[in-house]
Amino acid sequence: MNKNQKWNIENSYSELPSCLFVNQLPEQSSNPTTKYFNTNLALDLGLQFLSDKEILDYFSGNLLPVGAKSISQAYAGHQFGNFTMLGDGRAVLLCEQITPKNKKYDIQLKGSGKTPFSRRGDGKATLSSVLREFLISEAMYYLGVPTSRSLAVIQTGQKVYREKPYDGGILTRVSSSHIRFGTFEYLNRFCSNEELLIFSNYVIDRHYPHVKNTENPYLSFIEAVMIKQIDLVIHWMRIGFIHGVMNTDNMSIFGETIDYGPCAFMNIYDPKTVFSSIDRGGRYAFGNQPDILYWNLIVLVNALLPLLSNDKKKSIDLGSSIIDKFSQIFTEKWYNMMLMKLGISNRDNDDKELVDLLLEMMIKFKSDYTNTFAALTLGIEPEDSSLLSSDEFKFWKKRWTAQVDAPTNKNLKLDLMKKNNPISIPRNHLVESALKSAVNGNFSEYDNLLNLIKNPYNYKSNNFLQIIPEGFDDSYKTFCGT
Ligand code: AMP
Ligand code: MG
Repeated sequence: MNKNQKWNIENSYSELPSCLFVNQLPEQSSNPTTKYFNTNLALDLGLQFLSDKEILDYFSGNLLPVGAKSISQAYAGHQFGNFTMLGDGRAVLLCEQITPKNKKYDIQLKGSGKTPFSRRGDGKATLSSVLREFLISEAMYYLGVPTSRSLAVIQTGQKVYREKPYDGGILTRVSSSHIRFGTFEYLNRFCSNEELLIFSNYVIDRHYPHVKNTENPYLSFIEAVMIKQIDLVIHWMRIGFIHGVMNTDNMSIFGETIDYGPCAFMNIYDPKTVFSSIDRGGRYAFGNQPDILYWNLIVLVNALLPLLSNDKKKSIDLGSSIIDKFSQIFTEKWYNMMLMKLGISNRDNDDKELVDLLLEMMIKFKSDYTNTFAALTLGIEPEDSSLLSSDEFKFWKKRWTAQVDAPTNKNLKLDLMKKNNPISIPRNHLVESALKSAVNGNFSEYDNLLNLIKNPYNYKSNNFLQIIPEGFDDSYKTFCGT
């Protein structure tokens, strides 16, 4: 190793009030092997110098980088509507790395063994769940969605016992932070108002410094978080992503997608789509995600009430004044996004109807969400699409074309559509098949998929639509993947 090349470490979280974390070493891995190392991300982080041996040692939990004070974070959360104490039960924050561009990222090991927050769990992760998160989080990154990223996948060499033994894995997860809505709920419930204040100031400094000079920084903070989260969920709606477990402990305060568990991509457009085996009531269905975000924001506001004013009634009024804007802001931003998928950037009021009518037809004709918009972008009419060959669609298309095909709009339209409509996404059947082969030692499908997800908007060399095996979704279920 070149001696000028070393980690650039901070441990700012471990300087916070002690109720927020416990000092925690990762468990040792007996016989680890590196399955993946994300060299592009390593370069961005300023960690490109790591040797193969160092990669293995650090990301298997066998060695701490010099200067790292590893911890597990305390947090609580509402899971399916019920308040619960949680915390990093299978994760360790190794350290924060300051990048060459002076940005701070958490470097976390997920699946690195028991912690005081493990409850009855073993603190471990299966290699399959780690490979799934690596693939989908990287796919989200290339789709242009704010997300945690994945630096390394290590096979631990130990078995993890679920309903049967599986190979164990550790994911190195990189995120702007791992601070959750539930971290504030935890402070509100179990710590002092003074600690809540210190922590909130820390989060504002770290993620939202621009709110510091406003009249009520904590209120502006809530508003800034709301906007970030709205933008995030609108990205999810744009690409047909179903997070699957939008509990408040899985909502990042910085508005990144975190905690990839039972997530999946919708094929046929239906707002009621849900794949998670534990989501029997459809609480986290595709079309419910905006309402759940609103619900989660109310929980966040509740946790922050002590900081808004000394008078509880006034705090509630102040918090409500922000939250009450949610619906209008979300709807406006959502229509803007949907219209961009249709190539329309400066919209008229009745353009909203174009979106509503198209989505209604897509439900009626059971159209694939991604392929419909990709087909519109390519200007093709696939033979198997009953929607695109229907009379009502042709009528709709005339109206849409009249709006967007004025000569001055045409190039702009195509440009917008190509940026907002992926032509390929990690389809559920591809993900499952690649994982199945990978855990049996054959990584070629997985590697192909890792390549595919790097160019989701590549309309140049890739102008065919993905084919989904008929009936696949009917029986498809996803699991929390512990
Ligand atoms: P998740 O479903 O990944 O959001 O996790 C919810 C909570 O369960 C968090 O507190 C996790 O740390 C904890 N947890 C999940 N899996 C395990 C495990 N295998 N061992 C210990 N804790 C776990
Ligand atoms: Mg979680």
